[in-house]
Amino acid sequence: MFLLRKPILALSDSSAVRDVVSKAPVTRSVVDRFIPGETSAAAVAAVRQLRAKGLQVTLDHLGEDTTDRETADATVAAYLDLLEALTAAGQVSGAEVSVKLSAVGQALTATPDLPAGGNAYALAGARKIADAAYAAGARVNLDIEDHTTIDQTLEVLFELRRTHPDVGVAIQAMLLRTPKDLAELVGPGSRVRLVKGAYNEPDTVAFTDPDQIDLAYVRAMKVLMNGRGYPMIGSHDPRMVAIADKLAADAGRTPDKWEHQMLYGIRPDEQERLVKAGKTVRVYIPYGEDWYGYFTRRLAERPANLLFFLRSVVSKG
Ligand SMILES: Cc1cc2nc3c(=O)[nH]c(=O)nc-3n(C[C@H](O)[C@H](O)[C@H](O)COP(=O)(O)OP(=O)(O)OC[C@H]3O[C@@H](n4cnc5c(N)ncnc54)[C@H](O)[C@@H]3O)c2cc1C
Repeated sequence: MFLLRKPILALSDSSAVRDVVSKAPVTRSVVDRFIPGETSAAAVAAVRQLRAKGLQVTLDHLGEDTTDRETADATVAAYLDLLEALTAAGQVSGAEVSVKLSAVGQALTATPDLPAGGNAYALAGARKIADAAYAAGARVNLDIEDHTTIDQTLEVLFELRRTHPDVGVAIQAMLLRTPKDLAELVGPGSRVRLVKGAYNEPDTVAFTDPDQIDLAYVRAMKVLMNGRGYPMIGSHDPRMVAIADKLAADAGRTPDKWEHQMLYGIRPDEQERLVKAGKTVRVYIPYGEDWYGYFTRRLAERPANLLFFLRSVVSKG
């Protein structure tokens, strides 16, 4: 079934497929399993629910591959609005926001009135979000996207860290370049979220065999756990979760020195079990209207999710 991952990810780029899936009446109910809602109020409600169970949170205002400045600006404004809503609800302290640089303009092309190009635009937007987040008592993590964007994302990360050293970044174990990137990211206090990688990458730049990806993930966990930063282990894979616990114990890391991370709606029982076992667990909460890309990556990851979706279409459609 892993064989279906690439075709699903490739299909998700088709605008015809996007139209059919987005408009199918049943899609919404399946989407609800992974996304608590479209507004900051819905996101704050999810934060309250998860925190009541002892879980930590990171929030993603959905959106990616923005091609115009208005949308990029609207995304920045949405994060500022979210931070205000979290503050008003008394939920901002210790919360994190996750930002995709492509949502705040990274892919904009340089024009005479934007001579520095998209990455500078994304940096400016991310800086506004980071300034507001750290002033409010929250923190920021940069999501990581397809392999063509990594250099630019790390450039933005290091720039942001000059004023906010706590800004974190996600790193994909599947990419062949990752050991080299990690070597620069294991310094004191460096927050790194390790994930397997959700994008459709060619074998010239990434491991594509699931076993090889798992081995690369374990190697990267060892580097992070034995480094001087703050490892964030973003995986639902029971084997990776167990190995992370063992490596953390071997490295003498207490629960305040690293954390597990999982996505909203995926293995919620396991999230609670880990909290009850005394671990730190952070849940990634995506919210907003632009859920299509995120949703199709979740379908591609797991046969059961795809079957659940198709079954709803067949029975209701
Ligand atoms: C907090 C967090 C942040 C992330 N940020 C990024 C990012 O910035 N960039 C990026 O490329 N990727 C990101 N990802 C996605 C990641 O790269 C993987 O695609 C995703 O986590 C699936 O890999 P896995 O390690 O959970 O294991 P897999 O090998 O995919 O799955 C192992 C097991 O986990 C369970 N499981 C996994 N996925 C699902 C699912 N969708 N539904 C139900 N059960 C599931 C199943 O039991 C499955 O058998 C993030 C993941 C997390 C948890």
